[in-house]
Amino acid sequence: MTTAKTPANFTELGLISPLLARLTELEYQQPTPIQAQAIPSALAGRDLIAGANTGSGKTATFALPMLQHIVEQQGGTSKGGKGNYVTGLVLVPTRELAKQVADSIKSYSVHFNGAVKTVAVFGGVSANTQMLALRGGTDVLVATPGRLLDLISSNAIKLDRVKTLVLDEADRMLSLGFTEELSALLALLPKQKQTLLFSATFPEEVTSLAHALLNNPVKLQLQSADASTLVQRVFTVNQGEKTAVLAHLIQQNAWRQALIFVNAKKHCEHLAEKLAKRGIKAEVFHGDKGQGSRTRVLDGFKSGEIDVLIATDIAARGLDIEKLPVVINFDLPRSPADYMHRIGRSGRAGEVGLALSLIDHEDYHHFGIIEKKNKLRLEREEVAGFEVDASVAEALANVAKPMAKPAGSGKKKNKNKDRKPSAAEIWLKRL
Ligand code: AMP
Repeated sequence: MTTAKTPANFTELGLISPLLARLTELEYQQPTPIQAQAIPSALAGRDLIAGANTGSGKTATFALPMLQHIVEQQGGTSKGGKGNYVTGLVLVPTRELAKQVADSIKSYSVHFNGAVKTVAVFGGVSANTQMLALRGGTDVLVATPGRLLDLISSNAIKLDRVKTLVLDEADRMLSLGFTEELSALLALLPKQKQTLLFSATFPEEVTSLAHALLNNPVKLQLQSADASTLVQRVFTVNQGEKTAVLAHLIQQNAWRQALIFVNAKKHCEHLAEKLAKRGIKAEVFHGDKGQGSRTRVLDGFKSGEIDVLIATDIAARGLDIEKLPVVINFDLPRSPADYMHRIGRSGRAGEVGLALSLIDHEDYHHFGIIEKKNKLRLEREEVAGFEVDASVAEALANVAKPMAKPAGSGKKKNKNKDRKPSAAEIWLKRL
């Protein structure tokens, strides 16, 4: 495992002048640690598994070398007919991330003067427009897996000439939810290719899987909860008082914006209604909303027109909302990894950020697990005026004590007998 070293400047990393000129325009003064570490290996054609904090510049880390290879080796789609092929394929878990990543890649390509074509394809919008965009092939395709499979079955695109595959949010892409679609796509890709895996969190299971997918990869791990840019706080509240505490925090703190996470689509609307009764206007963002509404709301939040957004975990991955001051976990995420992804929407690119979690006594134990898995230990605080009832505080103090075992629990169970296979086991069988 390679460790972080002082970042070089972009010129030293071996990038070509059209890219360097663009980075200067974007005011990227020096590479972030993951960029400094990973770009030379990616330029050298190595496979890569990279773990780095959310908001640490991962998109440029894979996009810049991929663009450089395309321009140097193939010359881009403008240099002759390429049929309906794609050279660089980036797979992402959500529609919004597909659009965001494609926009970044287009922005990095401006000085190639149209020689590099980038297209984003994702569900929820017309496939016809995307088919038209894919005509004549594309250099970089950023896609969600389901829509990509649909487009392949309509012969709109072929994957057998892909030279670079990127799995962004790789732990999510390799989780059970995407197994069917991703294994179908991997079967269509050529064996000989460069594969780059990026995520803020890499559970052990995914790391073992990665070895089956990658060829002698360079491994980089630059993660650390950077206390100087993202402050995490946790507030203990009485059951039934979360909404009142949330409204109080929003009104007291006058944050420019706030992103609030809940665990279910219908909770988004419920919470928005309850906040409205307290004079706080909030918009909602979840998977049951039409794509038009999703785009409008996210654009409104990114541009600062919307102050308070209530979302499910579809907003947890990769979204880059400039200078977002605070993320609030109204409900705790089920998975400890998702906690890191959610809070990573704030405190990006070295900005100061704040992540708050509201926990009542039902959340207390689970928050302990989230802390343990993410190697955190946060002080439990209370919000003035909403102090936790003494009886609850006493019960909470006992949460850590082991519970008495029920009668008959002494028998040893064969743990493996009824256990469902893990994502890694399912994957490895398919490879
Ligand atoms: P990402 O992790 O790729 O979503 O990037 C997070 C944010 O950091 C984006 O707004 C990027 O434009 C920005 N960014 C990426 N690399 C750099 C850099 N070297 N210097 C300054 N900002 C950067």
